[in-house]
Amino acid sequence: MQLKAPRGTYDILPPDSQKWQYVEKIVRETARLFGYSEIRTPIFEYTELFERGVGDTTDIVTKEMYTFQDKANRSLTLRPEGTACCVRALIEHSVYGGVMPIKWYYNGPMFRYDRPQTGRFRQFQQFGVEVFGSNSPYLDAEVIMLLTGILEKLGLGDFELHLNSVGCPICREIYRDKLLAHIAPARERLCADCQQRYEKNPLRVIDCKVESCREAIAGFPNIFDSLCTDCSQHYAGVKASLTQNGIDYIQDHNLVRGLDYYTNTAFEIHIPKIGAQSAVGGGGRYNGLVKQCGGPDMPGIGFALGMERLLLALDNLTEGQHSDSYLEVFLAVQDEKWASQALKVLDRLRKAGIRADRDYNGRSMKAQMKYADKLGACIVVLMGENEVNGGFFTLRDMVSREQQEVSAEDLIPRLKDILA
Ligand SMILES: [Zn+2]
Ligand SMILES: [Zn+2]
Repeated sequence: MQLKAPRGTYDILPPDSQKWQYVEKIVRETARLFGYSEIRTPIFEYTELFERGVGDTTDIVTKEMYTFQDKANRSLTLRPEGTACCVRALIEHSVYGGVMPIKWYYNGPMFRYDRPQTGRFRQFQQFGVEVFGSNSPYLDAEVIMLLTGILEKLGLGDFELHLNSVGCPICREIYRDKLLAHIAPARERLCADCQQRYEKNPLRVIDCKVESCREAIAGFPNIFDSLCTDCSQHYAGVKASLTQNGIDYIQDHNLVRGLDYYTNTAFEIHIPKIGAQSAVGGGGRYNGLVKQCGGPDMPGIGFALGMERLLLALDNLTEGQHSDSYLEVFLAVQDEKWASQALKVLDRLRKAGIRADRDYNGRSMKAQMKYADKLGACIVVLMGENEVNGGFFTLRDMVSREQQEVSAEDLIPRLKDILA
């Protein structure tokens, strides 16, 4: 039997890993510019965390979790998302007792048992941010600006920002009744999932992608008309801030998240050129979540960005933008009898911060030159009979093919000079 990576997972080999490093660097640097620090949490948690922190009526929890018993019969789950993990850490370490708000970012693998398709995997990577301890609408705008700022830095300025407010538990109760009244006559035509949603969580019927459900609920009431004064003021503040900062948005009243701990702002980012799975990320406020998970009553907001989708959108990136880890210097060694001397030279170069390598498979000098070219080296340092006996090196510029001699002491300063 030939071993393969499990369905829905994939390997990232060089040179693709360079693209990942490039994108990860951009997201990290941008988050730091906005005052965020990194949090790292375990990739598995007690199952209960996700039942409470993601919602036990969501598809993620009911259908898509990798849940297993460990040897002591504890129920554990590979994290399907990052927010619940951050909330758990916030509460466990009483971080909320310090200076507020707290701004965290994370970047790592998440796991969902879902049907694999383009840009969607069972192990996938998310970059996300969470802010705890402020309810300012300006913060909502800032969080969205961080997300759009990342996309712009990556050259993905052609995104669509979808925006909505899902209100608070008070105004959502009113909306829920209006929605139930609207759906009731069409109830028979809903899919099996929506039959259940209708009972437990009617707002989630709006999310359903099944065409017959969409038709059945056509013309459903807009949540905007049910917002209370506080919620509509908050929403107006977010929209005004975005407009002042030149960020266009589309008001999308399909963007409804049916769980009680989601409040106010909800947003999604689409990059239409990716195609059907155009959503690359989204997020919003979750002022009820920390309390729901057993912590204090504390506001929160965040977003998550699907790194695979982002990379998909970046597929036409030009090489130079992300290939900064090519080899700088190749050491061509004419005879293996100088192998230990060669290793010393390499050690000097690397300690001086120069990316350097040599051949270990007994290639001829000619074959070593081809190899150096393949590795993308800018300069080849030649170590032949003359060089070793004379105590110098010959440098060959791989672009101009010009050669020069340099004394052993001058080797590093000269290389740095050329590479600068
Ligand atoms: Zn409200
Ligand atoms: Zn449905």
